[in-house]
Amino acid sequence: MNLILFGPPAAGKGTQAKRLVENRKMVQLSTGDMLRAAIASGSELGKRVEGVMQRGELVTDEIVIALIEERLPEAEAAGGAIFDGFPRTLAQAKALDSMLEQRGSRIDLVVRLKVDDEQLLKRVAGRFAESGRPDDNPESFKVRLSAYNDQTAPLLPYYESQKKLVEVDGMGTIEEVSTGIDGALEAPRR
Ligand code: AMP
Repeated sequence: MNLILFGPPAAGKGTQAKRLVENRKMVQLSTGDMLRAAIASGSELGKRVEGVMQRGELVTDEIVIALIEERLPEAEAAGGAIFDGFPRTLAQAKALDSMLEQRGSRIDLVVRLKVDDEQLLKRVAGRFAESGRPDDNPESFKVRLSAYNDQTAPLLPYYESQKKLVEVDGMGTIEEVSTGIDGALEAPRR
């Protein structure tokens, strides 16, 4: 089973992905985590993406597609992947479909976490204070939100047309949202 957790920054994708990893035999593939690890390691890649990420812009499709491709065998061995923060552009979505198809696999479900902008801003302010994540500052967050609206939200009709999209209310507590996701995973497929 391959699942995409879809939604704007700070919608709770990472939190919910980690919970799914604990409860189901799946691997979380977060391009944001992979890029932050590259920065922390001081690698060439890390140096290339650091400024872009800090500003809240998207890194190139080529970089994130390669990161995901590298990890697909591991996810396959575990029985499935939770894609968290990927794909974020139509080119990434198409590349993902074709990489999976080549491996005789596919995306089974896209879970969209719906959270309104006001709530996102509140969450990110709290997260910045806690984690100090450099791109959680209000200025970068504005850029991330517009990157989501301009480049990522257009993927919704793509997955809708494939009949893979389900919407889950992301405004509740972590437990409430988890229950919503479980319901979506257990509902009979169309
Ligand atoms: P995230 O942790 O998913 O919010 O990602 C943090 C930052 O990493 C984003 O604001 C982008 O700069 C970069 N990033 C993560 N995933 C992608 C992606 N799929 N495509 C482009 N940039 C990405």
